[in-house]
Amino acid sequence: MKLTFLGTAAAEAVPAHFCICDTCRTARKNGGKDIRKRCCYLLNDDTLIDYGPDIWNQSIMYNFDLADIKRIFFTHAHEDHLDPVELIWRSPGYSKIEEFIDIFGDARVHEKITARVDYEKAKINKNQVNPGDVFHAGNFEILAIRADHDPNSTPLNYVITENNKTILIANDTGYWDDANWELIKNYGKKLDLAVIECTCAFTLQDFSIGHMSKKYTVLFKEKLQELGLTTEKTRFITNHFSHNGAPLQADMEKFFTPHNIEVAYDGMTVEI
Ligand SMILES: [Zn+2]
Ligand SMILES: [Zn+2]
Ligand SMILES: [Zn+2]
Repeated sequence: MKLTFLGTAAAEAVPAHFCICDTCRTARKNGGKDIRKRCCYLLNDDTLIDYGPDIWNQSIMYNFDLADIKRIFFTHAHEDHLDPVELIWRSPGYSKIEEFIDIFGDARVHEKITARVDYEKAKINKNQVNPGDVFHAGNFEILAIRADHDPNSTPLNYVITENNKTILIANDTGYWDDANWELIKNYGKKLDLAVIECTCAFTLQDFSIGHMSKKYTVLFKEKLQELGLTTEKTRFITNHFSHNGAPLQADMEKFFTPHNIEVAYDGMTVEI
């Protein structure tokens, strides 16, 4: 299984639009890994996790063809993860489309897309996902877990397995509650890769609700180990950073490397 980080920022990107904070000014100056587009992943060559406002640029920069995409797993409907306008272009008159695409997400995701796009005309298959669901798509088996994020919808984290390799995508979540730890423990799959968010990074106050800062990202990793869900080979990568948490790549690596956690950057590809 191959995972490409198409974007590693939270909602406002880094540097953020209009922002004059030190992190944004330094990121602009440094360029490279300090420039972060909105969080999104390419799984193998035909599956996206989220589809946000940077998607067209991401497809050009990282050289994949949106026409090859067979399915999108949405984590949730926030603007950095879902831009329904960018799905309008599947509608008749805009693009030549022959194959249907499968879209997976909670009720809010589908509500937001249907406000702008006719599923039948745009050749979209609707798949509603609820927390606790185990479902299959292509060669994948997926467990959906309720993220601790936005109580007005049902944000999801995903455990995705293909050919006996398993990854966890846990962005846009706070530190999980006991029911979630129990769910993933009982599911019982050993993780080859765990992607754990750190939206708040170095903010003065530690965050564990709705999003996480550095301390809780480390605790989240250690809890997965404690539950026996990892091996010595498991890779841990942190992702989804807000400029407000000062996520400059060098600073992040300095903190996380001793914890055996890698720091994602735009364009990073991992094969497991
Ligand atoms: Zn987000
Ligand atoms: Zn800023
Ligand atoms: Zn969010």
